[in-house]
Amino acid sequence: MGSKKEVKTKEVTMEKLVSLCKRRGIVYQSSEIYGGMAGAWDYGPLGVKLKNNIRDYWWKEMTQLQDNIVGLDASIMMHPKVWEASGHVDSFTDPMVDCKECKARFRSDHIDLAAACPTCGAKDSFTEPRQFNMMFSTHLGPVAESGSIVYLRPETAQGIFANFKNVVQTSRVKIPFGIAQVGKAFRNEITTKNFIFRTVEFEQMEMQFFVKPGDDEKWFAYWKDSRIKYYGRLGIRKEKLKFHQHGSDELAHYAKDAFDIEYEFPMGWQELEGIHSRTDFDLSRHAEFSGKDLTYLDDQTHERYLPYVIETSAGLTRTVLMVLSDAYEEEELEGGDVRTVLHFHPELAPITVAVLPLVKKDGIKEIAEGIEKNLREDFSTFYDQSGAIGRRYRRMDEVGTPYCVTVDYDTKEDNTVTIRFRDSMEQERIPIEKLAERIRKANKEFRREQ
Ligand code: ATP
Repeated sequence: MGSKKEVKTKEVTMEKLVSLCKRRGIVYQSSEIYGGMAGAWDYGPLGVKLKNNIRDYWWKEMTQLQDNIVGLDASIMMHPKVWEASGHVDSFTDPMVDCKECKARFRSDHIDLAAACPTCGAKDSFTEPRQFNMMFSTHLGPVAESGSIVYLRPETAQGIFANFKNVVQTSRVKIPFGIAQVGKAFRNEITTKNFIFRTVEFEQMEMQFFVKPGDDEKWFAYWKDSRIKYYGRLGIRKEKLKFHQHGSDELAHYAKDAFDIEYEFPMGWQELEGIHSRTDFDLSRHAEFSGKDLTYLDDQTHERYLPYVIETSAGLTRTVLMVLSDAYEEEELEGGDVRTVLHFHPELAPITVAVLPLVKKDGIKEIAEGIEKNLREDFSTFYDQSGAIGRRYRRMDEVGTPYCVTVDYDTKEDNTVTIRFRDSMEQERIPIEKLAERIRKANKEFRREQ
């Protein structure tokens, strides 16, 4: 089996991640049978579980474990005035240039305009930069006329601002409080590359925290600290995370201050999540464009004011890529054997426990099947009886399954099984009835070797 004393790790590359994701049903190229579609990806049987687990972990952290954050699920298509009020119709643009020779299109802030075209190598071939609005639009109803234009939301945040009054009036929240939402967003990105990092259709996990003006700096510091600690709890390596403060030239039109949490992806340091101090920009604009009073009345002090907002905005699909990059390891074990392992936090792993009978005959298979069925109620399980046990362990390591349970002749005698831990590769013999408890304990104790 190879022990884990001597471990050498090889660098993770995007090619390795893409290939593993395809091979193991985590992420497929969209519309692959038709030659694929740029900037869109599909989540396979294990990928959808990973993505949902990340979403559920965030949701629990940001709503259930908080005193004062409630949830929302707003529609993707909203009244077109929402996007005028938010500033997206006028300013949600990226500067774009085309190569006159090969017609390739680039974001002008992503390339060196004095250099040759990265696609065809032509010199002095770029057009002047033009502003390109990134919102997708379509028409509502059967007639395509200018009055029927609707947009696919480019962020989930505006659904929260548009519902601010509803939530205040119906859910007894008191400032400071937050509204959290997870959902799809769409951006007509000029360049989509790097797998699921930047796509035209993606998912965001956003939380808008409403505070009294003047308290915003304190809460901004609080959420900055809280969000980086969250990644620590997820077991993400500290040295791969850093803050980047936006300079005055980077700040979005609504922002007073902004920090990105960056992660060192295989292609380099890139934004994972933004923490933004948005002042009362959004609520004041929606009040102006809708004609509705969106002020908040403090029933203790009888003050009426427009709250300030601190936003935490993370990409869900981008977090999937981050979690995969961070978890991936190729370990060279003693004896030269190499195992590929995904060191997922156990609560994120698509499969929590695999049950593997060592032999199929003499009733062992039936016992193993029974154990697997019993564990289903509490955990995501997998049953595998084919191939040598070493190969079965490797298959589970490669998709990040934290626990494997083997069933053998001794199980028949004394109702015990062996539980094997993914990261340490250590094994323990325990009674069948203690399995669920042992798994829960190990989940709680999970610490990534940093
Ligand atoms: P960028 O500058 O990289 O285009 P941004 O600063 O516009 O991103 P935000 O508007 O702050 O990004 O969006 C918040 C989060 O949503 C980002 O941190 C990222 O995780 C995610 N996100 C934004 N655009 C995309 C995309 N095209 N594909 C996947 N995730 C995205």
